[in-house]
Amino acid sequence: MEIAKSISEGLARNVLAAKVNGQVIDASRPINENATVQLLTWNDDEGKKTMWHSSAHLMAEALESFYPGVKFGIGPPVDHGFYYDVDLGENKLTLEDFKKIEDKMLELARKANQYVRKEVNKKDAIKYFEEKGDNYKLDLIKDLEDGQITFYSQGEFTDLCRGPHIPDTSPIKAIKLTNIAGAYWRGDEKNKQLTRIYGITFPKKSQLDEYLQMLEEAKKRDHRKIGKELEMFTFDDDVGPGLPLWMPNGAVVIESLEALAKKTEQKAGYKRVRTPHIARENMYKISGHLPYYEDSMFPPMVLEGDKYYLKAMNCPHHHKIFKELNPSYRDLPIRLAEYGTCYRYEQSGELFGLMRVRCLQMNDAHIYCTREQFADEFRAVNDMYLKYFKIFGIEKYVMRFSTHDPAKLGKKYVDNAELWLKTEDMVRRVLIDSNIPYVEVPDEGAFYGPKIDVQVWSAIGREFTLATNQVDFAVPARFGLVFRNANNEMETPICIHRAPLGTHERFIGFLIEHYAGNFPLWLSPTQVAILPISEKHNDYAKKVLQLLNNSDIRGLVDSRDEKIGKKIRDSEIKKIPYMLIVGEKEAMEQMVAVRQHGQGDQGSIKVEEFISRVKNEISQMLDA
Ligand SMILES: [Zn+2]
Ligand SMILES: [Zn+2]
Repeated sequence: MEIAKSISEGLARNVLAAKVNGQVIDASRPINENATVQLLTWNDDEGKKTMWHSSAHLMAEALESFYPGVKFGIGPPVDHGFYYDVDLGENKLTLEDFKKIEDKMLELARKANQYVRKEVNKKDAIKYFEEKGDNYKLDLIKDLEDGQITFYSQGEFTDLCRGPHIPDTSPIKAIKLTNIAGAYWRGDEKNKQLTRIYGITFPKKSQLDEYLQMLEEAKKRDHRKIGKELEMFTFDDDVGPGLPLWMPNGAVVIESLEALAKKTEQKAGYKRVRTPHIARENMYKISGHLPYYEDSMFPPMVLEGDKYYLKAMNCPHHHKIFKELNPSYRDLPIRLAEYGTCYRYEQSGELFGLMRVRCLQMNDAHIYCTREQFADEFRAVNDMYLKYFKIFGIEKYVMRFSTHDPAKLGKKYVDNAELWLKTEDMVRRVLIDSNIPYVEVPDEGAFYGPKIDVQVWSAIGREFTLATNQVDFAVPARFGLVFRNANNEMETPICIHRAPLGTHERFIGFLIEHYAGNFPLWLSPTQVAILPISEKHNDYAKKVLQLLNNSDIRGLVDSRDEKIGKKIRDSEIKKIPYMLIVGEKEAMEQMVAVRQHGQGDQGSIKVEEFISRVKNEISQMLDA
């Protein structure tokens, strides 16, 4: 805080916490060694999380004022806000109680009470919570080492906590409690069920309003609701949870995405492969998925005395193909692509619409290259992302670039300091050169190389993690992958795992929200609805449909015995981009009267002219 004040009072007012040598601490803590210091504000994820966690303490203080004797479990921050697990004893909490708790929290926040840290020895800590009668805190203290226990107090409330917290309660200016749920103590159903109260806070009232509006909009755009209305996908108990069935309208979107990916990858020099959905146990032992990833895989099936696993990743299969190609340096880079289907075991409680499923189809590819080729290959992958962002109208995105920690080489990370530094440097340079917004997160790389998580925001400002790019130094060696280099020696390639469109499931779930179901023309399951004015014009309508079909345009004829106004309204509800109204005059002159979804009448034109207009429009959309 003193550093912040030495820079400016304005900055000091906004500081919520500090990151000192990689560790987030209270801004008031002393610094006793040479350190790299980052001041955290609301604009930093860790700043937000610190404020949200501090808000949980504030909520606890408010709860205690209404329900004396309330006991507290844990109160961490989450992606959006915080929760606290509480034992209210005889009391029951309902959504109606939220208002009074929020008001009390605001009243307490305005007092600008400091969050005061105090080191406590174990004996005193136990004594405090025994007197208070909070058996949950006592249960937590049991596992803590003496000398490492801290209390934090603000106002009338004291909590067992290791921190960090914001300096005082004043930055908490807007408060909303959002939900109540049941949660077993320590996640164990043998224990007592506590009440989990969720909330979120902001430093400005306008930010809370925006957030609530976004939630409201997200509810309207819920991919499960719109996906059902548009007959895109369904789940069936007999098929099993987490296993989506793609209906015709969903399959159209899938195949349009695949067509785009295949065309894009072909232009970029990828070659397509196809691999089976199962493999022997031994392959996953070589890859290291077994035993490290076993919990996320389906249990094996036994066949002729061998164990077979459903594939959770496509990489091992692709590595085998690379090996069979037996390349020399002249053949590199080799880029193997497959829209591969993978199976992952997710607990049933974790399944969520298309966002968390057990069967997923991935826009996968593996690029095998020399160290010299790496920077160009990585750049090309990045360019592909940018091209896709443009096509899908994704305006806000950030690459989270996770690197290694030199102190942990040989333990958490593959022991090759030079390769780590060089590769990270190349990745960083590409990100800077191409002006891509990115954040660097030290010590979060994968064991076998740096990784880039791509975060995108939907049209209503909700954040999604779509894809991960991974640089891999280690696995090619585990599989014995080599190429003959220019000196006639065997060398191990670097492998880049990339999947810009993620999985169909997650990406389409994202797109449904992003477009609110109004798919752009090229992705729309039905692109054109042909609406005959009366039964007499059905034949001409079918003729028009045939012409559209001949030109790869997806259409349907609404030949129901309904008024034209009703047919138009129904097509609008189904979000079909174009409606062609055909009657006497149109049939005579081989014309169609064009209506555009949400934009109304566009006048009459010849059928051929309409077809070339649609084709042009589509190719412009994909020509990003
Ligand atoms: Zn705390
Ligand atoms: Zn892979």
